[in-house]
Amino acid sequence: MKQAKPGANAQKSPIRKARARHPEASCSIAMVSCEVVPLAKTGGLADAVYALSRALEGLGQRLTVVLPAHRSAKHANVPLERIGTRVHVPLGGRRLEAGVWKAQLSAHVRALLIEADAYFDRDDLYGTPEGDYPDNAERFAFFSRAALEVLRHEPPQILHAHDWHPALSLAFLKADAESYPEFSQTKTVLTIHNLGYQGVFTENCWPLLGLGQKWYHPEFLEFHGRVNFLKGGLMFADKITTVSKSYPKEIQTPEYGFGLEGVLQNRASNLEGILNGADYEVWDPVNDRYIKASYGIEDLSGKLACKADLQETLGLPQAPDIPLVGMVSRLAEQKGIGLLLETLEALAKRALQVAIVGKGEASYEQALSAFQAAHDNVKVCIAFDEALAHKVLAGADFVLIPSRYEPCGLVQMHAMRYGTLPIARATGGLKDTIVPHGPGSKKAAGFLFEGYDVPSLLGAVDAALAVYKRKATRRAMAKNAMKADFSWQKTAEGYLEIYKSLLIA
Ligand code: ADP
Repeated sequence: MKQAKPGANAQKSPIRKARARHPEASCSIAMVSCEVVPLAKTGGLADAVYALSRALEGLGQRLTVVLPAHRSAKHANVPLERIGTRVHVPLGGRRLEAGVWKAQLSAHVRALLIEADAYFDRDDLYGTPEGDYPDNAERFAFFSRAALEVLRHEPPQILHAHDWHPALSLAFLKADAESYPEFSQTKTVLTIHNLGYQGVFTENCWPLLGLGQKWYHPEFLEFHGRVNFLKGGLMFADKITTVSKSYPKEIQTPEYGFGLEGVLQNRASNLEGILNGADYEVWDPVNDRYIKASYGIEDLSGKLACKADLQETLGLPQAPDIPLVGMVSRLAEQKGIGLLLETLEALAKRALQVAIVGKGEASYEQALSAFQAAHDNVKVCIAFDEALAHKVLAGADFVLIPSRYEPCGLVQMHAMRYGTLPIARATGGLKDTIVPHGPGSKKAAGFLFEGYDVPSLLGAVDAALAVYKRKATRRAMAKNAMKADFSWQKTAEGYLEIYKSLLIA
């Protein structure tokens, strides 16, 4: 573990400039999340929590992000400093001890990491490709309690939990309020980044939570004979948000509600969608340390060098004129990997190259690896590889996102900044952010398909391949894509408004 150096990771100038423009009074805000860049990441949650915190900092706020001291966080290239106090965490009638580490992520954003090696010193955050860790109920009940212990000494005005892992914190604050008098003025927000993951466990875990039996009830945490951690947060949060405008409506339907549509309908007046942003400090071809050549909207020539570099890196034939379809994704059912596998044979017969970087479920990893072995124009890299993700988004002509559902999605926003056109399913945040190609659409920046089936996906790919042949249209679409602005500042302003309205309520 690295020791902290003073002044390390000082904030960059865009944030300083934004702060100067927004001298509003600061609230004290604590984010509680299982992931935050650059300490721990498996997907967009980590990007979102970091970028939102930085953007709020730009609006004059100070933030604390509480997360587990995962093994990956301890070994991230971020200086950590041990905080003297150890906290005592009640869990299932026991009192467990935890250490606390601090990392200064920027001038006004600090992370506090809860060290409990028995729970968090593991290779992965949630489980292995074979499945979730069997003690996840215990790990995240502990995390939710421990976060409150860490914050007890400086209770925030706003406690903002992200996804199911810390959602119980909000339930503990209300259902066990007498244990947390310091938080009596704290208002709570729960953001659903992905309703498909709820933290549902057998009834056996109930004693771990230390809540009275009356809360094990369908109106609170009980969910079809099991305990649902996310539901606990949803029932008790002062405000619920999701990460695009379409997703709050979608999740109130049986198709997208994963059994919680009724709960969300009941809480609809406290439910709001705020589109996530893209972090252009990290994702911009003008200034991207991972890619072969820089380029921008005025001069796209560097993109060709990036394409050649990607082909070389993956061992694809070096051909500047063949359309290259990239994909950067968790390999999970949500991401449409099943549909991709059904489509790949037909896709690979077309005059194109495919470059996939992904990690996730073992069966998908195996199927994709087997497929590439039999096809010269398809390359699959089974890894979580940040550098390669950047190379794919810069070097590909198109990026495929066939998601079954997508609360927001960052890949399409990132890809657009690189002039790489998304071919995506028309759902959730994908529908909200991609202006689709179609008759008379001068602002088109990508391709959308409705049906979750092979013909629909292939139809969109064929439309993209037709555009690829029409150089002027292709360039115009690339420029539209690069002009799209999904900056976090707008998102942060939305959250700040919510925080302020809760505090004056
Ligand atoms: P989700 O959070 O559901 O996985 P998003 O599109 O919101 O999907 O965010 C995914 C983020 O994770 C993006 O920043 C993407 O580049 C990154 N990512 C996903 N898979 C990989 C991978 N195999 N290697 C590197 N980065 C990845």
